[in-house]
Amino acid sequence: MIDQLIADARKIIIKFGSSTLADKDGKINTAYLSEFADQAAALIKKGKQIVVVSSGAQVAGLSTMDKWARKKDLHYRQALCAVGQVELMGAWRRVFAQYGLHIAQILLTREDFDDPIRTLNMRNTLFTLVDEGIIPIINENDTVSVEEIKIGDNDNLAAQSAILWSADLLILFSDIDGLYDKNPKEFPDAALLEEVRDIEAVRKNISIGDTNSFGTGGIDTKLQAARQALLFGIPTVLAHGGRPRSLEALAAGMQKGTVFLD
Ligand code: ADP
Repeated sequence: MIDQLIADARKIIIKFGSSTLADKDGKINTAYLSEFADQAAALIKKGKQIVVVSSGAQVAGLSTMDKWARKKDLHYRQALCAVGQVELMGAWRRVFAQYGLHIAQILLTREDFDDPIRTLNMRNTLFTLVDEGIIPIINENDTVSVEEIKIGDNDNLAAQSAILWSADLLILFSDIDGLYDKNPKEFPDAALLEEVRDIEAVRKNISIGDTNSFGTGGIDTKLQAARQALLFGIPTVLAHGGRPRSLEALAAGMQKGTVFLD
């Protein structure tokens, strides 16, 4: 099913969570980024178009400004993301350059999606970049995003971006193989749900286990993202981004995940 969706999709948007992009020491995992760039370049050669939604600015910022690790107030957190965003994009730029690919940075807020003129500009820029073979890398603009105007999580940002770009497929790479009937980190007997057609029904039926891991974003924002994307006919795949060559493995039908579709 997932392999078929990838085969059929021309425009694929791929979101990475921070946990997927960071290594054990809390630094941006450049070997991982490089492995992804290699897989993305191969797909692009086959005629696919790719847009990336990348978290990780805070992680990258912390490894640069480690003395700020304990500073919790908003301005420091935003400043940290401003520092980290440069590091993050530098890392993405270097890995894609190995394949002769240019990248572009797009920083967005919720207000951008609410404004029709901005939306039009974002859409035109995205299309132009992708048509020119450049890989747009989207993140939330943390410098201006205080709580009230925040999308707040990159799952929903990825879904909105997928809708904006009229993507054929949204892939959410996380540190889990997909949606389970209960949190697999607490329950070893949790079962992977490989196909979800009714998100609301599933939401009521799956055990949320530890409410913290479910309630604070986590899997819930992924369900929101999938629901949003599906409203516009865009199927969503939730899969483990940290398996060996995950994108290729999914495309080859060698890796399992959860697919949300109509
Ligand atoms: P990311 O940083 O990739 O966006 P999150 O950590 O926010 O990912 O969300 C994924 C986590 O959600 C998983 O690691 C898992 O511990 C937790 N989780 C809670 N309930 C479930 C469930 N029913 N199925 C899958 N994961 C779940």
